[in-house]
Amino acid sequence: MKIALIAHDRMKETMVQFAVSYEPLLKQHQLYATGTTGKRIMEETCLTIHRYLSGPLGGDQQIGAMVAQNEMDFIAFFRDPLAAQPHEPDILALLRLADVHNIPVATNLATAEVLIRSIEQGDLAWRKMIHGHRRVD
Ligand code: PGA
Repeated sequence: MKIALIAHDRMKETMVQFAVSYEPLLKQHQLYATGTTGKRIMEETCLTIHRYLSGPLGGDQQIGAMVAQNEMDFIAFFRDPLAAQPHEPDILALLRLADVHNIPVATNLATAEVLIRSIEQGDLAWRKMIHGHRRVD
């Protein structure tokens, strides 16, 4: 599965803790992240992550491009609920595309934990079928 990890600045510590807690599970998957989030996680774990640009510089849009192609299988996007972001339109675009393609998104730790465990149980195995029937129109 392809998993995207994104966290706004005040949520990065929570994301790092999530990655540390679920490292054995996460390392079985292909991981992608925005620049700073990926850097922080790689500093604290042994995970290998494909890092895109930092979110405000276009990283959300780069991950959004994968979402648009229905290539991402799960997104953990820990948004800061108490601070406005300069790249809010990019964030909304990413979340909208996830809804277009019915891609599971966790915007907080509690949901991410439920979803990551469901991946372990095989509940998202249906995503593998999607890859064989990708829409291009
Ligand atoms: P960052 O981007 O991981 O590069 O900080 C996250 C974001 O703000 O979207």
